[in-house]
Amino acid sequence: MHQTLTQNRQMTLAARPTGAPGAEHFALRTTPVPDIADGQLLLRTVYLSLDPYMRGRMNDADSYAEPVAIGEVMVGGTINRVVASRHPDYQAGDWVLSYSTGWQDYAVSDGTFLFKLDPSTAPVSHALGVLGMPGFTAYMGLLDIGKPKAGDTVVVAAATGPVGSTVVQIAKRLGCRVVAIAGDEQKCRLARDKFGADVALNHKDTDLAAQLAQACPNGIDIYFENVGGKVLRAVLPLLNPNARIPLCGTVSSYNNSAPSAGPDHLDWAWSTLLTKRVTVQGFIIFDDYGHRYGEFAEQMGQWVAEGKIQYLEQIIDGLENAPDALKGLLEGKNVGKLVIRVGPDELG
Ligand code: NDP
Repeated sequence: MHQTLTQNRQMTLAARPTGAPGAEHFALRTTPVPDIADGQLLLRTVYLSLDPYMRGRMNDADSYAEPVAIGEVMVGGTINRVVASRHPDYQAGDWVLSYSTGWQDYAVSDGTFLFKLDPSTAPVSHALGVLGMPGFTAYMGLLDIGKPKAGDTVVVAAATGPVGSTVVQIAKRLGCRVVAIAGDEQKCRLARDKFGADVALNHKDTDLAAQLAQACPNGIDIYFENVGGKVLRAVLPLLNPNARIPLCGTVSSYNNSAPSAGPDHLDWAWSTLLTKRVTVQGFIIFDDYGHRYGEFAEQMGQWVAEGKIQYLEQIIDGLENAPDALKGLLEGKNVGKLVIRVGPDELG
C-alpha cells in the first residue's frame, strides 16, 4: 500500500444519513498532493481514528461542533509522518498527532493542532486511544465528575472500548467494585480478564435489569454514561442517594433521526435523579478539560508504560474501508479502539 507523492485520496461527506451511516454517504476523490510554502509542513496519514462523535458531525444540526459540509473531507484525529517541512519546529520523518487532517492521505499544516509524538515511548497509534482523547475522557470524567472512593460501585457500558476500558481500570486501581456492560460474551470476557472488571454483563440479554440488580447489591454510586437507552433504564432504579453520573455519551441513540418510539421515560428519570439527589454532569473533553491535558498525559503515560493500564486496539487496513468501519463502530462490531491504517509507517 505504498503511496506515491503525486496523488491524495480524500474521503468526503457525500450525503447526510438518516439512521445508520454507510458507504453511500461518502465519496472518495483524488486530488494532487499539495505543495507547501514557508512555515508549512506536508503530512502523510498513517493512522486514522474512528470515533462515535463522527456520526454527529454528519448531521446538519446544532451541536458543540460544526457539522462537516457536503463535499468536505471528513474530520478525525490522525497520526501522521512529516514528509517535508519548511517549518522551523518540524523535520521530515517526525511523527505527529493531528486534529486538522481528517480522512485523507496528505495534508498541509502550519503546526496548528499538531502534537509531536515520540515513537520510542509507546506505539504511536496509542495517541488516538488510551494516551489521547478517549483516555483523557475516561480519566477526567471518572476522577473529576465521578469522584470515586474505595468501595464505591461503578457501572460503565461500552466497557471494552477506549473510554470504557480505561474507566474500568482506573476505577479498579482506586479500589472500586466495577460492573462492566458490553455487547457480547467475548467482550464480557475481555472486560473481566483483561481489564479487571468484577462482573461483566451482556446488554443484549433480555434480563439485563435483573442481572444488574444482582450484580449491584449495594446500589450504584457512579454510572459513567457512555450509551443511554436500555442500559440507563436498568441503572436508574439502582442509583444510590448522591450518586454521580459523568454524562459522556449516548451512543445507542446516535443513529436515531427522531426520538425513539415507546413509553416516554423522561419524567421517571428526572424524578429519580431528583429524589436520589444525583449529580449529572455533561462534558466535552477538550472544551472542559483541555487545560488539564498535561496532568493526564503524565499519569496515563506512566500507568501504560508500567503495564498498569491495559489497552486493546483493532486496526483495519485501507481508507476505503473507513465508512463501513464507522457503521460497525456504532453497532458494536469493533473490539477495542478502532483505527484505520491509511498508509505505511515507513517514510516514502
Ligand atoms: P467505543 O469504541 O466503545 O465504541 C462504541 C461502543 O458503543 C460499541 O463498540 C458498542 O460496544 C457500544 N454500543 C453501540 N450501540 C450500543 C447500544 N445500543 N447499547 C449499548 N452499547 C452500545 O467508543 P468510545 O470508547 O470511543 O466512546 C464511548 C462513549 O464516549 C461514546 O458515547 C462517545 O461518544 C463518548 N465520548 C465522549 C467524549 C466527550 O468529550 N464527552 C469524548 C470521547 C468519547 P458494545 O458492543 O460493548 O455494546
